Amino acid sequence: MTFGEGKIWYDGKLVEWNDATTHIMSHVVHYGSSVFESMRCYDTKKGSAIFRLEDHVARFCDSARIYRMALPFTQQQLCNAVIETVRVNNLNRCYIRPLAFRGCGNMGVNPINNPLHVAIAVWDWGRYLGNEALEKGVAVKVSSWNKFGPNTIPSLAKAGGNYLNSQLAKMEAVEDGFDEAIVLDVFGYVSEGSAENIFMIRNDVIFTPPTSSSILAGMTRHSVFLIARDLGIRIEQHLLPREALYIADEIFLSGTAAEITPVTSVDKIPVGDGKPGPISLKIQELFFRIVHGEVEDKHGWLTHI
Ligand code: PMP
Repeated sequence: MTFGEGKIWYDGKLVEWNDATTHIMSHVVHYGSSVFESMRCYDTKKGSAIFRLEDHVARFCDSARIYRMALPFTQQQLCNAVIETVRVNNLNRCYIRPLAFRGCGNMGVNPINNPLHVAIAVWDWGRYLGNEALEKGVAVKVSSWNKFGPNTIPSLAKAGGNYLNSQLAKMEAVEDGFDEAIVLDVFGYVSEGSAENIFMIRNDVIFTPPTSSSILAGMTRHSVFLIARDLGIRIEQHLLPREALYIADEIFLSGTAAEITPVTSVDKIPVGDGKPGPISLKIQELFFRIVHGEVEDKHGWLTHI
């Protein structure tokens, strides 16, 4: 099933894809008032399994809480709804998009008097950064756009409006011939990619920016912490100056869509020898073995459906 087909869970009911609509005067269309999640369901030897379902749904609820959205469903109901949506669409593997948004009722910035809608859509989404990205790596540029600062737009909420900043960075990067953008925070420290967290490796230690660098606290990022620990590789959170990227031995990106993608150049400067590095590939390999159920799920990350 591709994008544009199948059923969407919409306010507690399954409806046809084309019927999952909202009015153009909905608050979200004008003021970006939505929160959402991204998850993947993978094909495993024991059937399909959703990666970190409960953690993603918990983050969804956190995002809603930050924006004072009273979700009319419990976390458990939302987990069940995700499973139901994947099942009914009969997909072995898919990308899953839960969304909560302010609907149509009252115009004006104050969103509170608009109805809140919740939807879950699924579709088969391949390699986010292109077919060869996982094996060959990607070229990134440091964006001329900074990430939004602390106490402006909350980066720990995964909200629709956040992605205006990401869109500016991504369009510029693609226009300039790069695969992805890296944004610096308002203090000039490395923050993240337009839709990924970033890691760099130097002298066998993995470094990544802390949550205080205006990042989304990625679920894949958290998984990388535990995978690195399982592999006995040191991993630390540090403020990273831009130039640290130019002298890194290896760099990789993490995200639900991008999974674990090596970075082979930053601003046209090769990372290390310009090929995906051994530590990045080790992390990537174990990540894929876990999500495909090829090794023991020791952290309890898979929900079989
Ligand atoms: N940062 C941003 C801005 C993102 O959009 C994403 C993708 N959700 C990530 C980081 C990675 O988060 P996760 O691993 O939870 O997908």
